[in-house]
Amino acid sequence: MLEDPGGGAARREGDSFKAELWSSCRGWRKMKLHCEVEVVSRHLPALGMRNRGKGTRAVLSLCQQTPGSRPQPRAGGERGGPLPTCLVICTLRDKRGTRYELKENIEQFFTKFMDEGKATVRLKEPPVDICLSKANSSSLKSFLSAVRLAHRGCNIEVPLSTFTPVKTSEFEKFKTKMVITSKKDYPLSKNFPYSLEHLQTSYCGLVRVDMRMLCLKNLRKLDLSHNHIKKLPATIGDLIHLQELNLSDNHLESFSVALCQSTLQRSLRSLDLSKNKIKALPVQFCQLRELTDLKLDDNELIRFPFKMGQLTNLRFLSAARNKLPFLPSEFQNLSLEYLDLFGNTFEQPKALPVIMLQTPLTLLESSARAMLYNRIPYGSHIIPFHLCQDLDTAKTCVCGRFCLSCFIQGTTTMNLHSVAHTVVLVDNMGGTEAPIISYFCSLACYVNSCDMLK
Ligand SMILES: [Zn+2]
Repeated sequence: MLEDPGGGAARREGDSFKAELWSSCRGWRKMKLHCEVEVVSRHLPALGMRNRGKGTRAVLSLCQQTPGSRPQPRAGGERGGPLPTCLVICTLRDKRGTRYELKENIEQFFTKFMDEGKATVRLKEPPVDICLSKANSSSLKSFLSAVRLAHRGCNIEVPLSTFTPVKTSEFEKFKTKMVITSKKDYPLSKNFPYSLEHLQTSYCGLVRVDMRMLCLKNLRKLDLSHNHIKKLPATIGDLIHLQELNLSDNHLESFSVALCQSTLQRSLRSLDLSKNKIKALPVQFCQLRELTDLKLDDNELIRFPFKMGQLTNLRFLSAARNKLPFLPSEFQNLSLEYLDLFGNTFEQPKALPVIMLQTPLTLLESSARAMLYNRIPYGSHIIPFHLCQDLDTAKTCVCGRFCLSCFIQGTTTMNLHSVAHTVVLVDNMGGTEAPIISYFCSLACYVNSCDMLK
């Protein structure tokens, strides 16, 4: 039911009008919009009340009376001139809908987030804000331009159709969850409902991500596990609400930089890449800062991104049965609840450090260090691409400064319990220790940290 505390007057008035409306239903022409609606009274804050902040599935229709069936004008109604248009909001509980007059009745449109399928129409009378969300953005645009015309009192050119109460089946288009677990159920000729928030298509033999899925702008959960996907399109990053992505048991060999730098940075919380063929994740992977759950089991990982410590929200990490020889020193900055690194090929820490120091520093090394230390922005539009890559993969010394190719590399061991509450044993011998690799920008830093390396 549409809660509309401020619109009581309109509803009472609307009831008698609705009777007229249904008696002459064939004479109405309309256009429709499927979305979520919340009608918020602007009186609510004054009464110390708040709206629920949650929309209701609704079908919005723009109704215009055709001349043949025009009911007697109500008091104050105009005779002749362009036909009055009104907005009818029908919900599952209120299939006949609530009517709002539009002519010269709109105070303001809020359309900043129209591309995300959101907009608000502020009416003068009753004093309500009609908040629309989860609409198809192009349908929303054309619907609102029709609303604008109705406000100006213009005739709207829309296809004629009979006006009947909205059927329950109309609301089925609002399906939010779809689970397909076999090839024969996979929709080939029919589109996915655009309102889907959770889509699973497993065991469908997909070799690539279906482009139709990438139009589902409301998707929060996408499960493509158990397919044969080799590559991910960068446009997955256009799914701005995507929180959970399951790609386990596919043929992926990489996770692209473009995806790491997409809107997934703000939305993605859970990522399952287990049972693929990934050898390494790009350093930019650590920009997916909202990640809380990451599964990388059964891949061919030979290293973690060494800025791993930047994933400060990460709580669950499993990378069992990979080929990790050691962990990056930033790994020690993680604060996990669960960690599973069982069955990796961890090496014994080396007794002697690898010394790659050079004095004086090369011009490249000192300028790179200066750029990174001073956080000077860079990109392939300013400097050569290979230099960007070098800067992206610069090593961080324990002192917080950076080094490129001039450093001392030392290995030590860490007990994984220092970064996680629950630790799965790393081997069958009962160990919970793993080798850590550390970098030092100078001899001084190395000497100062020698205690740590013992
Ligand atoms: Zn240092």
